[in-house]
Amino acid sequence: MSKPSANGDATSRGVVEIRIRAPGGAYPAFVGSGALAQLPALLGGARRPSSVLLVSDRRVFRAHGARVEALIEASGVRSQRVVLPAGESSKCFAQFERILRAAVRAGCDRHALLVALGGGVVGDITGYAAASLLRGVEFVQVPTSLLAMVDASVGGKTGINLPEGKNLVGAFWQPRAVVIDLDVLATLPARESRSGWAEIIKTAAIRDARLLARIESQRDALIGGDLELLAGVVARCVRIKADVVAADEKESGLRMILNFGHTLAHGIEAAQGYDGLLHGEAVAIGMVFAARLGESLGCTAAGTAARLERTLDDFGLPTAVRGLSFARVWGAMGRDKKRGPCGLRWVLLARAAKAMIRSDVPEAAVRRELRGFLATGVDGRKDRW
Ligand code: NAD
Repeated sequence: MSKPSANGDATSRGVVEIRIRAPGGAYPAFVGSGALAQLPALLGGARRPSSVLLVSDRRVFRAHGARVEALIEASGVRSQRVVLPAGESSKCFAQFERILRAAVRAGCDRHALLVALGGGVVGDITGYAAASLLRGVEFVQVPTSLLAMVDASVGGKTGINLPEGKNLVGAFWQPRAVVIDLDVLATLPARESRSGWAEIIKTAAIRDARLLARIESQRDALIGGDLELLAGVVARCVRIKADVVAADEKESGLRMILNFGHTLAHGIEAAQGYDGLLHGEAVAIGMVFAARLGESLGCTAAGTAARLERTLDDFGLPTAVRGLSFARVWGAMGRDKKRGPCGLRWVLLARAAKAMIRSDVPEAAVRRELRGFLATGVDGRKDRW
């Protein structure tokens, strides 16, 4: 077992440490094949918690739970577990209560620590449980989906859904550490993997021209499972998200650029009753729409939408959607909690890798573009690679 380094970029079997700055102090994200080996050192030593509660979902626990429990045990800490049903419907009050009550019954005190082993659902609900239990205990994120690795596990947003909408209850609560072991992706279903690629392409599209070019040119190797290349891409995404979040933890400014593609995505997801496209698939479609909207307004460089569409298509992601009425999507977009005081705020691209936030997009232009976009859509789901 290797010790986590204090100063960043230490490696064990190529594991990179990224320092994430946060208001309460910096914390590390370990990225690479074999990163799980960091767990015993993270949980042992001077900061050893009084006990650990492992939270996972059934699918992930079946694939990786035993290994992670053995690593927690190797730190010498007593642990218990709560295993949730897999899927978005677990991000609810009933499961939240279940985690908290299990923690109390397991004797967790204020020095206990929660470990979130799973995708964004497990990460979000566990983080919120950690923020709430005894007014706040520590937690460690062990993201197992590509989407959670590059997005959900970094930045400190935690929470659950209400029947009225997604992520309506939650807290900003930063983890002690994020452990991103790419080896666990071996069991991730291909469609979930594609959904994660949408967030990777989004990250590059808003902020990093070199990353975008790298993703485009190395597509075959990346999809083919080259873990070294993938580690570089994931680490870069984590760095970008961490930098954006450090500049704006509570999303009053810069952080909003991470929502590129999300305005329409949230509208599509809500209009489908959260039972249609995966989040990343909806984001892929939303990004194409935002790029087209920007082009039609004259603020996005011509050709940006076509390039984005090509890249997303190359990664097996949908770039259009069919069968959704304008009225439903429009209504759902209007209820989005990310509305600004003067209506919808749009994240648009000036060009590839340069995002901007605009609150002055005329509603009539959005309506026109959206009507056309939904009318020409094709079936949103693809089953490639
Ligand atoms: P998820 O957690 O539901 O995981 C997707 C599916 O993949 C689940 O069935 C899960 O069991 C399975 N899975 C995950 N890892 C696996 C593995 N290694 N092997 C086998 N199966 C595996 O969904 P997600 O896409 O990871 O995350 C979506 C959630 O994240 C949403 O609730 C969204 O709101 C949230 N999110 C949060 C943030 C944030 O900043 N907190 C950012 C983006 C998304």
